[in-house]
Amino acid sequence: MTHPTWQGLPPKIAEKQRAFTPYRPSPQKAKVILNGNENFQPPQVDLQAALADVKLNRYPDPIARECCALAADYFGVRVEQVVAGNGSDELISLLMMALLPRDGKVLVTKPDFDMYAFYAGLADIEVADLPRDDVNLDALIEKAQAVDLVIFSSPCNPTGAVIPQAEIVRLLRSTDALIVVDEAYADFCEDSMLPSLDEYPNLIVLRTCSKAFGLAGIRLGFAMASEAIITALHNVRSPFNVNALTQAVGAAVLREPAQLKAMIAEILDNKREFITAIDSVERLLERLDTQTNFILLKGADAQLLHAHMTAQGIATRYLKPDLLRVTVGSREENAAFVAAMDDWEDSSAGYLV
Ligand code: PMP
Repeated sequence: MTHPTWQGLPPKIAEKQRAFTPYRPSPQKAKVILNGNENFQPPQVDLQAALADVKLNRYPDPIARECCALAADYFGVRVEQVVAGNGSDELISLLMMALLPRDGKVLVTKPDFDMYAFYAGLADIEVADLPRDDVNLDALIEKAQAVDLVIFSSPCNPTGAVIPQAEIVRLLRSTDALIVVDEAYADFCEDSMLPSLDEYPNLIVLRTCSKAFGLAGIRLGFAMASEAIITALHNVRSPFNVNALTQAVGAAVLREPAQLKAMIAEILDNKREFITAIDSVERLLERLDTQTNFILLKGADAQLLHAHMTAQGIATRYLKPDLLRVTVGSREENAAFVAAMDDWEDSSAGYLV
């Protein structure tokens, strides 16, 4: 049967559309939003001052020089090793376009951030995968020998686990394939490959302003790698990929590293309290440890709990088959989640008797 949205499309285009699954984030209509791994605090920035010099009628700085220089300072790398993107999402897409030959192959781990396979597929790149449960670096190293690029998040979305640096180094040394470490959540564990950037010409590190820095709305991310790789990414990106408003606000926030550190500390404090509160009410699901700003609950009832939270106006993320991912929110938001969980556990316990 023809899908209604493909009717009227030329057959080859319909065929291409049929082959891929769009990623559609759900609209954020809930009272309490704990599904996006965002920072519950927006950074304190004087928007009027930050935007005062932005000329809306002029194109922005094509290379987002100031943001890149501030990011280089913050992350302890050289500015020539940094390129900015419209979120790290865009940079993932650019990596696939810039750094892979026509018959290139990419290796991802599963589960991991879905957009790696999505953008590779869009660029007609073959994707191999390896179960994350056995990362098992020996298996990853073995498979990496047959691909051009390996990409994974560490800490991982959704498992929350870090691949130890020594293991990533072993992988980097074992192959000429490019190794992309997506450190979207590394601000929460301070475990980063960035200090090794000069040592490994095949290492690429991604960071985002969407999580710890509280800037998901402006779309700003960075790729950091050797100058040769950064040049390759510049060569394929659209000329003004980071807009003037994003550059101005991003720079204003990155100029205040102490504020960023304080926000991260606040999230980690809330996380500790949230975990204690969850552990005091939760009996039906197992809580898994994470190195991130989200908490994972695992169990056969994860989907039921997700439905219960949705009915209470609390947005969480259900991950098939048995995981519920909950972002650490403000104290009030976390308390709302714990109260709803307590109610649910009580009523579910009733059914079990
Ligand atoms: N990488 C990982 C591991 C993520 O979880 C996300 C967002 N969910 C991204 C990248 C994309 O981040 P950005 O907002 O910078 O596009």
